[in-house]
Amino acid sequence: MALPSALPTALPTGLPAPASAEQLAALGAELAAAGVELLERPEQLDVLSADAFVYSPVLEPLLLGRRAQLGVRPRSAEQVRAVAAACARHGVALTPRGAGTGNYGQSVPLAGGVVLDGTGLNRLRSFDPATGVVTAEPGILLAELERQLAAHGRALRLLPSTVRSATLGGFIAGGSGGIGSLRWGFLRDPGHLLGLEVVTLEAEPRLLQLDALEAQPLNHAYGSNGILTAIRLATAAAVPWQQLVLGFDAWEQALAAAQQLPAMALELNQLALLEAPVAALLPWPSGCPEADGRSHRLLLLAAPAAAEVIAGLLPGLGGQLIWQAPQGESRGIPLRELCWNHTTLHVRGREPGWTYLQLLLPQPEPPALAALRQAWGDDLLWHLEAVRSFGAQRLAAIPLVRWRGPEALQALIDHCRELGAVLFNPHVLTVEDGGLGVVDADQVAAKRAYDPAGLLNPGKLRGWTG
Ligand SMILES: Cc1cc2nc3c(=O)[nH]c(=O)nc-3n(C[C@H](O)[C@H](O)[C@H](O)COP(=O)(O)OP(=O)(O)OC[C@H]3O[C@@H](n4cnc5c(N)ncnc54)[C@H](O)[C@@H]3O)c2cc1C
Repeated sequence: MALPSALPTALPTGLPAPASAEQLAALGAELAAAGVELLERPEQLDVLSADAFVYSPVLEPLLLGRRAQLGVRPRSAEQVRAVAAACARHGVALTPRGAGTGNYGQSVPLAGGVVLDGTGLNRLRSFDPATGVVTAEPGILLAELERQLAAHGRALRLLPSTVRSATLGGFIAGGSGGIGSLRWGFLRDPGHLLGLEVVTLEAEPRLLQLDALEAQPLNHAYGSNGILTAIRLATAAAVPWQQLVLGFDAWEQALAAAQQLPAMALELNQLALLEAPVAALLPWPSGCPEADGRSHRLLLLAAPAAAEVIAGLLPGLGGQLIWQAPQGESRGIPLRELCWNHTTLHVRGREPGWTYLQLLLPQPEPPALAALRQAWGDDLLWHLEAVRSFGAQRLAAIPLVRWRGPEALQALIDHCRELGAVLFNPHVLTVEDGGLGVVDADQVAAKRAYDPAGLLNPGKLRGWTG
């Protein structure tokens, strides 16, 4: 198995050249004639060229200033085909984009060219009440899709904490999991994505209908091997989740509760454990007491019946109930915007000197956490997330890391790996380096089949060598 690469110090080589003025003019004229909305103003291009990469001080200097030369906002799969055809014929790079909330520069156009803003394709196309299967366009906001599904008593199985701002297409192509991962694992686990409609990047683009198996290589491929125009997903029965904030004076007891609660017959959708100094830097929902910096907090989304049981278990677990309210009915920030990478967002909002890591902790977790704490002291603050990984209950971690330069970050990454943690490095640019470090031959084969000239989101698929 190839080892995951070190932190990047430069952009990938072999990127396509930026479009010439003549290419851009010809392409723009063709697309305007096809009725495609063009986004050309400098401030529009600035917005279309950035995502949330500033959380990484490694990526920030590499990506700042990378800019699209033209933006387009198609409103139908036919218009997407017109864009793809024009880019293929003129040899211009094309980067798809949703809401731009990705964290690794996934939608930043490394080679200039065109950015395709997918938010114009935003319809729920069909819902089957018998199976709960939904088909929707990539630009629909997840919160809007959630709202429409709720009317049928259904819900999305997995949501990023950016559910209010992110699109469905961006989540499938760039996300990995989040709220719901405790029950449902991760987006790439077979069973979530049931099919895709895809436009290829060719002079005569094809509109393909891919089944679940054929769609898998495009799942989490950063839009580098096909433009998604519709997504078919499994959904879950909606549950009126209760939001619970629990407090623990002792870290060991909080950690034990984070391991024990998901192993019981409790219906939970989310469990995050925040070490006291992290909790102290977060905003809290209206009516929930501020954190005092001494007690650790466990954030839960639990079904009503489970919430009742948890209240009874708390004295034995060494914790106490600090706050409870039904999801969707509390005021101020909801719990689901305090977990996953929203924890990092809030901490950085107060103290921008923090960055973060993402890892699956080795088992048993307590010795590894203790070893890291001993070596890194206050430079590492713990934020854990309970997840289901390959069918087993595990603890993932999104620790806050005090930025002390790339060498220190690399040493921390190496230490985590030595202890047996699986890193999902958020300080790298390619699909492979952010995952297990290995090239997925199916993703590369899909790129060869659907983007033979290598113009889709260039530089993001390490396995692509042209
Ligand atoms: C505060 C914060 C919290 C976050 N929490 C989570 C979390 O809990 N879980 C998680 O997984 N992620 C999380 N993220 C990352 C990100 O929000 C999600 O992955 C989100 O779903 C991305 O959606 P987007 O619409 O912003 O996509 P974008 O950032 O615009 O795009 C993401 C990728 O998808 C590709 N893409 C977009 N549309 C298409 C299309 N039509 N066809 C092909 N490719 C396309 C883009 O090229 C890009 O590579 C978080 C980010 C932030 C800033």
